[in-house]
Amino acid sequence: MNKISPMMEQYKMIKAQHPDKLLMFQVGDFYELFYEDAELAAKEMDIALTTRDGGSDNPIPLAGVPIHAVETYLNKLLRKGYKVVICDQVESAAQAKGLVRREITRIMTPGTITDQEMLEESRNNYLAVVINRHNRYFGLAAIDISTGDFQITEHNGEGAWEVISDRLRRLQPSEILCSSPDLEQLCRDQVKVNNSGLIETLSHIPDPAEAKKLIAAQWGEKTWQELNLERYPLAAASAAAGLTYLQLLQQLPGEGKHFHQLELYFSYKNMAIDSITSRNLELTQSIREGSRQGSLLGLIDRCMTGMGRRLLRRRVEQPLLEQAEIEKRLDALSELLQQPLRRRDLRKKLQDVFDLERFCSRLSYQRVNARDLVALKKTLLQLKPVKTILDDFEPVLIREINNSLPAFEDLITLLDRALVEEPPLSLKDGGLFKEGYNEEVDRLKTISDEGSTMLLDFEKNERSRTGIKSLRVGYNRNFGYFIEVTRSNLELVPPGYHRKQTLVNAERYTTEELNSMEEEIVGARDKLAALEYTLFEELRSKIGTYTGNLLSAAFELARIDCLQCLAETAETNNYCRPYFSDKGRMAVKQARHPVVEQLAFERFVPNDITVYKEQHYLLVITGPNMAGKSTYIRSAALIAIMAQMGSFVPADQAEMPLFDRVFARVGASDDLSRGQSTFMVEMQETAEILRESTPDSLIILDEIGRGTSTYDGMSIARSVLEYISRKIKAKTLFSTHYHELTNLEGELPGIRNYTMAVKEKGKQVIFLRQVIPGRADKSYGINVARLAGVPLDVLVRAEAILTELELAASTAAEHQLTLLPMVTEPVTGCGAEIEIVEQLRELDLNRITPLEAIQKLYELQKALLDIEQPDGGEG
Ligand code: ADP
Repeated sequence: MNKISPMMEQYKMIKAQHPDKLLMFQVGDFYELFYEDAELAAKEMDIALTTRDGGSDNPIPLAGVPIHAVETYLNKLLRKGYKVVICDQVESAAQAKGLVRREITRIMTPGTITDQEMLEESRNNYLAVVINRHNRYFGLAAIDISTGDFQITEHNGEGAWEVISDRLRRLQPSEILCSSPDLEQLCRDQVKVNNSGLIETLSHIPDPAEAKKLIAAQWGEKTWQELNLERYPLAAASAAAGLTYLQLLQQLPGEGKHFHQLELYFSYKNMAIDSITSRNLELTQSIREGSRQGSLLGLIDRCMTGMGRRLLRRRVEQPLLEQAEIEKRLDALSELLQQPLRRRDLRKKLQDVFDLERFCSRLSYQRVNARDLVALKKTLLQLKPVKTILDDFEPVLIREINNSLPAFEDLITLLDRALVEEPPLSLKDGGLFKEGYNEEVDRLKTISDEGSTMLLDFEKNERSRTGIKSLRVGYNRNFGYFIEVTRSNLELVPPGYHRKQTLVNAERYTTEELNSMEEEIVGARDKLAALEYTLFEELRSKIGTYTGNLLSAAFELARIDCLQCLAETAETNNYCRPYFSDKGRMAVKQARHPVVEQLAFERFVPNDITVYKEQHYLLVITGPNMAGKSTYIRSAALIAIMAQMGSFVPADQAEMPLFDRVFARVGASDDLSRGQSTFMVEMQETAEILRESTPDSLIILDEIGRGTSTYDGMSIARSVLEYISRKIKAKTLFSTHYHELTNLEGELPGIRNYTMAVKEKGKQVIFLRQVIPGRADKSYGINVARLAGVPLDVLVRAEAILTELELAASTAAEHQLTLLPMVTEPVTGCGAEIEIVEQLRELDLNRITPLEAIQKLYELQKALLDIEQPDGGEG
């Protein structure tokens, strides 16, 4: 066996401390990975796998990435759910006596990223900690160290896991730590079904005393008392486990300065929107692409800052429940709408505001450089003008924001006095500070600046003293300053010149005078760089003392950004201010679906939505497929959510009740991703609504019962309707293709039938997109199939079956298409089209000439067209 090199010994020692992470080990200009790490990294990062000590018997697998490009690779690994340790050389090869010293400088995991380039601006990046006892008690902490957001919650008893897992699905954490392997598996199955990301079991869970100590150290004893954490031991344990984990990763900011206040989260303050509803309504991402685009959030987001974008997402996910709060936001919006010019100025100022919240996080980890501080100054410079703009606004909310927004004049002065406008990236080479900030810096700078003049003078003197015209003074990293004399002039070299280096065509010398100049200049430069670095650290920690204020400024800026964004959207898309009445009715005039109206190819047709408390709270909507049922019922839910997040709504007029919850369920069709029977899923989701909704909820049910056989499906749809109608009495919009359900109007309380108006033109059907009272008399399925380009054979056969069924239905009880056995006999006599098909089938192509074939084809097509357009008019 080969003896391993000292460097590999060093590697192994460091790797042994972090067996579960990929170790990136600095070797010169590269980060190298060895052994299994190399094999894995080569595969995951798509880079070459080579070997070290290739000639030996046991070559070591090796994969490397250049240091300057490491961020891209890190990004790839973290996104795939790996943890990475970065081990840097902490001394130069020149300084080292023997092996270069190396230390771990960063430990990175998917849920603990702070680098701006790796984070999405518009969303939080959460690390979640879930703790569970006896399967009934759950605690959850959600931590975003890039913004300082730290929330905890606790749920007990039946349904606790459902609440916790739903919250997890909405948070979409990049990393989840669980208290047991069973819980880990549960999270894998029910939270992270498709997403990548990291899920692990915690190795240690803090006991109550430990938890209290950790939380008090981070936020103070007072927080423990105020949040009454004694009563929420699992919430406290999850917070503490989170803190311990961050400590292990060296990611715990000092003295608890950076995290926002610890927030005990329960959903009473806000409307809880479960993840299924959020998905079905496409609140923050579209179903098809899973992207922001095509979602409500994507549509309304006209924020100018990352902080605003993240807050807007939160508002969409957590609308308000209290009317006074909502009205405060709406008042502010109204006034912003009336002042478009000021709003434009405000937007311009906000455009120059950087992500102050994430800056604070990096500041607390000492990860900001001089450029970040200059950017901070530029951001702070916007505050005063923002405040001046806000001064002209009356609404309480805007005044509140304005009053809580500091102008940071002293900090601006400090930064302005200290740093040059365009400092270098590196903090180690000086050039950071302005003249006048520090006397010693100025003195050393003069020496190093004057150094070049001194050297020029020296060169000039030496030329005239020796008579060597080509004599030059130069500098080289290894040899320092030198005087260079070409070979042809060597005889003119005076005494006192000491040889330093020999080149092919020249000799290089030094003199005592040059030596002492060198010492002074080089000494001054080194001292300057070291001094500037120390001063920078001082400046940085001074700015650290402002963190609390900076974070609250970040919050106020996010709030005003959200408001201007909603005003801008309301103006552009022509929304109206909703008003809340205590009559408990929803009466919206000319409602539109905010997203479909922007994306639809045709002109959007608005519709009224009227849902009253009594006699008129359960709308059953029938109509052909593609007529616009889903769009209509979803627009009701979206308008309710927008109104309660304090936004204007896509309608001409909107009288709204205050909803306690909004639910949206869609009959199962293709949701196979969960690995459960789709019908089972559909029923679980429906059961949840029936359990949790109240008379003050809004329920949207789109084709419930679709996922099973017709009789089953219809029976379930019907009994769900009955239950809502009699027991829950929630406002409900129910779209269905079971026409039989329209018979319930008049039989059950609250039910009203609506249908989508259509116009028939020959065999074509035109969707008018209008919702009118009444029931659909037929389903137009075949017409729609025709629109969709289904082959003629199939259409003709479908028509035949339909006719048969309609005949049968008049004698037998109500039947459903899909229930009838498949008919396998050849197509027989119904309609002129069938004749044509028959003729086509009889045709023996081997016995006719091409010319006859064309002739026949012409006849058949003509006959067909005559059927479709009997009067030869337009189609
Ligand atoms: P259904 O639920 O009845 O099958 P959808 O609501 O899915 O129908 O609507 C089908 C398509 O019709 C939508 O994708 C949209 O493009 C268009 N649409 C729906 N409602 C309207 C409307 N009110 N105005 C214009 N186009 C609409």
